[in-house]
Amino acid sequence: MANVRLVDLTKHYKRGSEVIKALDGVTLDIDKGEFVAVVGRSGSGKTTMLDLLGLLLKPTSGSLFIDDIDTAQLGDRQRAQMRAHRVGFVFQEYNLLSGLNVLENVMLPLRYAKNGKEGRGRAIELIDRVGLSDRIKHRPTELSGGQMQRVAIARSMVNAPSLILLDEPTGAVDTETAQQLVDLLKRLNHEDQVTIVLVTHDTDISGQARRQIRLKDGRVLTDERVGEGIPVA
Ligand code: ADP
Ligand code: MG
Repeated sequence: MANVRLVDLTKHYKRGSEVIKALDGVTLDIDKGEFVAVVGRSGSGKTTMLDLLGLLLKPTSGSLFIDDIDTAQLGDRQRAQMRAHRVGFVFQEYNLLSGLNVLENVMLPLRYAKNGKEGRGRAIELIDRVGLSDRIKHRPTELSGGQMQRVAIARSMVNAPSLILLDEPTGAVDTETAQQLVDLLKRLNHEDQVTIVLVTHDTDISGQARRQIRLKDGRVLTDERVGEGIPVA
């Protein structure tokens, strides 16, 4: 089953008389359990594509299906529900709340999905899986960049989403830490069959994904499965 299906998806912005085609007609499927790297120069449309997939933006035209649901048919509340239940986000800047400890940060998305009760146990288990059991009561300011990103990854999975979207998650950490984060993502992808779409500038990282989608000027330049060497489109 396609976890995500984009059909001629566009996002255009108007700046004065100019139209900026941030995404300009992208058609592709991402299957459940895939590990996809999205690459391309700055301004190529990577963040726009990710934000559309995460229902943070609405497309200008085209269709987006998530788990076979046509997202254009959803009202605002249903969109918010779908985002809360099916999608996890990780950003370069971690976006943790400094006034909350690790457990409280990881549990935060449970509120939006009304998963509070069962969720606490899952949060504790995820913190263990990302290797931070001994930091569970610490505040973000007491953690390293890599540890903060582990918290953000645990948080992104707390509602058991089918899809995790990561925008330059290793952009603020050193190479070794970046590799540890990628190893963690690979493990979660493998163990939970969660789909991972990871935007990155770093070719050492994108080269480890089984599929690489390269964007240029809002369009798909190449889409290939690395390793198997079979072009997908
Ligand atoms: P990337 O993440 O690959 O660097 P983005 O998706 O952020 O690229 O941006 C793609 C293009 O769309 C860029 O030219 C950018 O300036 C433009 N863009 C993105 N968001 C907006 C916005 N809210 N308003 C106007 N232009 C935007
Ligand atoms: Mg970007």
